[in-house]
Amino acid sequence: HVKAGGKDGYRFYSETMSIGTANRLSLERDLRQALVNKELCVHYQPQVASDTGQVVGLEALVRWQHPERGLLYPRDFLPLAEETKLITELSECVLDTACQQMKQWIDGGHRTLRLAVNLSPLQVDHPRFVQNLIAQLRAINFPPENLEIEITENVIMNDLEQISRKLQELAEHGIRIAIDDFGTGYSSLNYLHRLPIHTLKVDQSFVRGIRSGEDGACIVNAIVAMAHGLRLDIVAEGVETDIQLAYLRNLGCQQVQGFFYGPARPASEINELLGTRAPIQAVV
Ligand code: C2E
Ligand code: MG
Ligand code: MG
Ligand code: MG
Repeated sequence: HVKAGGKDGYRFYSETMSIGTANRLSLERDLRQALVNKELCVHYQPQVASDTGQVVGLEALVRWQHPERGLLYPRDFLPLAEETKLITELSECVLDTACQQMKQWIDGGHRTLRLAVNLSPLQVDHPRFVQNLIAQLRAINFPPENLEIEITENVIMNDLEQISRKLQELAEHGIRIAIDDFGTGYSSLNYLHRLPIHTLKVDQSFVRGIRSGEDGACIVNAIVAMAHGLRLDIVAEGVETDIQLAYLRNLGCQQVQGFFYGPARPASEINELLGTRAPIQAVV
């Protein structure tokens, strides 16, 4: 409700709004502290070859080990991080951690294993984004071919000319580029042959449509057909059932990612997974 008429003219908060604001402020303070105290960590979700079950890539997903609230997920703090521009620092920390970790796996013999990292709009927008990224990789001698950055369609539509130059430069360095949540953004398909894209990631909302005896899979069919036509790699996200896996494999979708093969987990658990060198076992 509106509380009009304060002398200062600012007194129009509702009760819920002020609680929300207080909460938000404490979360913002906590997040700044988290960056200093290194409470952010990275979990890794396997990207699996649909025909052999081999792990071919790992997607880095940020987590926050909050001292009081426990393990927090991106939806709990990424919007605030974007708003407060703390996302820049957060992303640098994620990229740094994930690249250092992946470097160990690569040096340990997993030469072709790919690291997938999500980038925020603000990060890509930064004028020194490309230089900074390249410098960061060089600093730890990370092979650019083993990195795939994930951006959404919304990032692209932001400024197609500028993004095109940046992505071109990254691609020339050997870095791979994936479109995340493909088909859910606010975009035209026009960019697909104008940008150096390597991979489409089919959003989990479309994968969910794959159920036996229903025709909810038509969008997945269309995306996979288009990716084949454009000679793009394809990763299906949110694969949870053997029915979905079998369907995608038959369709020629080479890679899958989802709870069927397991959620994102800490590096120590990925060590065990990679140590076996065998196709990984589904958890369901
Ligand atoms: P995304 O990149 O599309 O990541 C996939 C999300 O789906 C992850 O959620 C993952 O845990 C979840 N997921 C994986 N398999 C399944 C499944 O089988 N079923 C279901 N229902 N969900 C599944 P998460 O980790 O909560 O991340 C959410 C989003 O936050 C990510 O979506 C990504 O856009 C963003 N994000 C995560 N980490 C980072 C980061 O380090 N930087 C930036 N800029 N964004 C990040
Ligand atoms: Mg992603
Ligand atoms: Mg996605
Ligand atoms: Mg997403």
